[in-house]
Amino acid sequence: MYATSTRRAVVELLKIERRYLSAAAIFASLKGSQPKLALSTVYRTLEFLQRLGTVSSRTEASGETAYVYCTDDHHHHAICTVCGHVDEVDCDAMEGFRGALLRNQSFALDEHAIEFYGRCARCRS
Ligand SMILES: [Zn+2]
Ligand SMILES: [Zn+2]
Ligand SMILES: [Zn+2]
Repeated sequence: MYATSTRRAVVELLKIERRYLSAAAIFASLKGSQPKLALSTVYRTLEFLQRLGTVSSRTEASGETAYVYCTDDHHHHAICTVCGHVDEVDCDAMEGFRGALLRNQSFALDEHAIEFYGRCARCRS
């Protein structure tokens, strides 16, 4: 199994799934179509994609690292607590926070990290 086709398969899977998946879960769903795939290759591929910014990761409550597909533009994740669906949220509201932090706390914002939790359209209906 060549690295490039594994890379493509991992990206395609994460693009379709739109939720955080562990390396083991990714391995399990690609194994059917790629019998020669090794779990270590999936880990290496995910590390590579993370350096590129194509995926981002977070640590689940279980301690496992999970990965999700990301577009190039700066954004945040709105995560459905029912089904795990991840939506990308743009960051326009941050300018308001920046001003408030400076005014109220005399705090100069350099970086930020936010995640939103709630229920997606499908899980609310
Ligand atoms: Zn993202
Ligand atoms: Zn949902
Ligand atoms: Zn932001």
